[in-house]
Amino acid sequence: MNKNSSNIMALAPNTSNKRETVCIFGTGDFGRALGHKMIHSGYPVVYGSRSTQISNLIPKDAEVLGHAEAAQKAAIIIIAIQRQHYNFLTPLAEVLRGKVLVDISNNLKLNQYPESNAEHLAQLLPGSKVVKAFNTVSAWALQSGTLDASRQVFVCGDDVEAKQMVMNIVRALGLTPLDKGSLLAAQEIENYPLQLFPMWKFPMILSLGLTAFFFFYCLALDVIYTYIYENNNFSFFIAITIPNRVCPVMALILLALVYLPGIFAAIIQLYRGTKYRRFPDWLDKWMLCRKQLGLIALAFASLHVVFTLVTPMRAFVSWRTSKGIIAQALNNKTEPLNNTNAWISDSYLALGILGYFLFVLLGITSLPSVSNNVNWREFRFVQSKLGYLALILCTAHTLVYGGKWFLSPSAYKWYLPNIYILSLIVPCAVLVVKFVLIFPCVDKPLTQIRQGWERNPKYSE
Ligand code: NAP
Repeated sequence: MNKNSSNIMALAPNTSNKRETVCIFGTGDFGRALGHKMIHSGYPVVYGSRSTQISNLIPKDAEVLGHAEAAQKAAIIIIAIQRQHYNFLTPLAEVLRGKVLVDISNNLKLNQYPESNAEHLAQLLPGSKVVKAFNTVSAWALQSGTLDASRQVFVCGDDVEAKQMVMNIVRALGLTPLDKGSLLAAQEIENYPLQLFPMWKFPMILSLGLTAFFFFYCLALDVIYTYIYENNNFSFFIAITIPNRVCPVMALILLALVYLPGIFAAIIQLYRGTKYRRFPDWLDKWMLCRKQLGLIALAFASLHVVFTLVTPMRAFVSWRTSKGIIAQALNNKTEPLNNTNAWISDSYLALGILGYFLFVLLGITSLPSVSNNVNWREFRFVQSKLGYLALILCTAHTLVYGGKWFLSPSAYKWYLPNIYILSLIVPCAVLVVKFVLIFPCVDKPLTQIRQGWERNPKYSE
């Protein structure tokens, strides 16, 4: 087949229903898994391999040929070979001229090479059209059938038609292609499978650090202090009482930390009188992980709900209740209902229930499947307005519950404030500053700045 005919074959649109043959270089794990999937989707598959012997593992209906021979049978060649072996392709440059080469390779480390594997392939074979795709899909998922249309396949490449051909294959396999632009995006796409929850790192470290701090704080005040000064062994508090103090405190502080960077951003913009200057890096990073902070806060709030629901089952609680009843029986006196206490307990429970309901709503709207179905204004309404309402309700829940301890000297063991007092510092600060920010004299200039107005414009018209 001459050079021109292979060019025409490479770019000819598929007008018939019959799928065009696809060539796969490499009969390794990925090559075989992709071959199986393609054959099931109706594509004739031909393998280019160093060995033309057919093994049991290779899909039954596929052909196995030498590389050059296999390449001539298809317009699209999927390179299912590790990058370090790409040099064997250089002698095949003429056969591969005009063909679409799909680079599916990954590396072992982030930014392992100065250029992406796909760009390296394009440099080795300048006459071919290189497209990056499929690298975020695993051989196991392809073979076990755990992939569906919700799985995105990132595709990038410099040749629009070649990219379109690859995206058509992705769709035919029942997956969703996501066009990431030119081959310059390949480095980023190759880094995806190597990332380990990048957005979760800071929220997780912060949550673990704060949880450890509050746990030991409660352990010191509720277990060690009572053991030393009151000779009571409350070590079993470690199982439920202390976690049920730490969880609501963490939930409240983390929820406040979701809204704190927005407050910092507003203050910085007001101070600078412009929105056209970058925020400091730490603030940018903090703003980017607000969703993760909110989801961890929701997890803590949910644990608090579960711990609270099991409270009546606890031996300590039944002992304390029966002790109160027996004391009343011995004294032959029924204590009257304390109306204030009844109001306080019902109020903090109601505030907690409503706050948790909004918390769950915030969590649900942050799911991509839900957030994709609401417009920007609706999303902001839920995340900002209802989010602040959740923060107000949860702060009020803590204030009503823990308020009675604020003025009691017994709450200051070792002169340290109760954990509920500590938990209210950040949320109260956020709410007070937010209250100031919504005053018209502050809100108006801030809105103007966010619409592009500058106090000292750099470029005057
Ligand atoms: P593999 O099992 O090691 O297979 C690689 C194949 O490359 C071999 O079976 C061999 O095929 C061919 N090969 C090996 N040395 C060669 C050489 N010196 N010259 C020419 N061909 C050579 O690897 P794999 O897991 O299939 O991965 C292949 C590519 O897919 C890699 O770039 C990987 O990063 C990427 N990938 C893999 C997965 C996965 O889940 N495995 C997921 C996404 C991306 P022949 O014996 O037929 O020549």
